[in-house]
Amino acid sequence: MSVSNNGNLKLAIQKKGRLTEKSIDLLKLCGIEIDHYSERLVVPSYNFPLEVLFLRDDDIPEYVQDGVADIGIVGENVVVSKNAKTEIIEKLGFGKCSLMMAAPENVAINSIKDIEGKTIATSFPNIVQNYLNENKINAKIIEISGSVEIAPALGVADMICDIVSTGNTLMMNKLKKSISVFESQAVLIRSSNKDLSPVKNEYLEKLLRRIRSVQTAQNSRYLMMNVPKSSLLEIERVIPSIKSPTILPLADENLVAVHAVIPSDYLWKIVDSLKSLGATGILLSPIENMIP
Ligand code: ATP
Ligand code: MG
Repeated sequence: MSVSNNGNLKLAIQKKGRLTEKSIDLLKLCGIEIDHYSERLVVPSYNFPLEVLFLRDDDIPEYVQDGVADIGIVGENVVVSKNAKTEIIEKLGFGKCSLMMAAPENVAINSIKDIEGKTIATSFPNIVQNYLNENKINAKIIEISGSVEIAPALGVADMICDIVSTGNTLMMNKLKKSISVFESQAVLIRSSNKDLSPVKNEYLEKLLRRIRSVQTAQNSRYLMMNVPKSSLLEIERVIPSIKSPTILPLADENLVAVHAVIPSDYLWKIVDSLKSLGATGILLSPIENMIP
């Protein structure tokens, strides 16, 4: 593989799959541009000292452990199941999914204790084993790399533990989901075996600052509204503004415009109070980036 040793930070991301687009989107939001040629393994950024390596997600933890890539973006479920010597630098808030136990209707799983003595088919044996150990349950694990959901029908397992999103696959195979074993999301990892050079560390710090400001922005909204001057104090008390709100005069002297940054999910909690205090023209818009 032609990975150059030019001192740039090397980031491994999934070549083709559920995390690919969102990983590239995150870089874009960080102001890092790359050409995404799917047939190329290594693609340099032209405005940040970064090279992107496109790999199978299963290979990312080990490549990061060995320093082939300095950092990687991969599902936390893959990180834990590969058991490589890597550490999570940052949770990225996308690629969320749950690893769940599921069983045929005639195998009742109402609590963890019902799993005792069962045979479980899964692609994530380490995660399932950790879970069983934590809960002091003995069960047999069978590792299957794909189409885990057919294992009970084939008679090779009593139940399965797999990633569930819509539940359609489970339904088609007459399986009922029960216990959630692991909640996963995409994470940024680095090797816990190898230190980065001081220069690469600086690049990583810079990248992390950008990622964190993108995440803060994604979790915030910009709120704008007109309010009667007379209720300004009460309105300010209702808004959980990150900084103090901006107050702007309006042509109508009885009104002022109030602008504030609030948590994404907060408007619905305060909208009734705002309306009853006389707020009008309430606008909420996304924030692309926010540097503290
Ligand atoms: P590769 O070819 O790179 O090995 P893959 O088939 O193993 O790809 P994908 O199905 O693309 O992997 O999933 C990548 C990651 O996306 C998963 O490991 C998981 O962390 C996350 N993910 C989020 N939602 C889902 C979902 N509904 N089903 C499966 N994975 C999901
Ligand atoms: Mg894979």
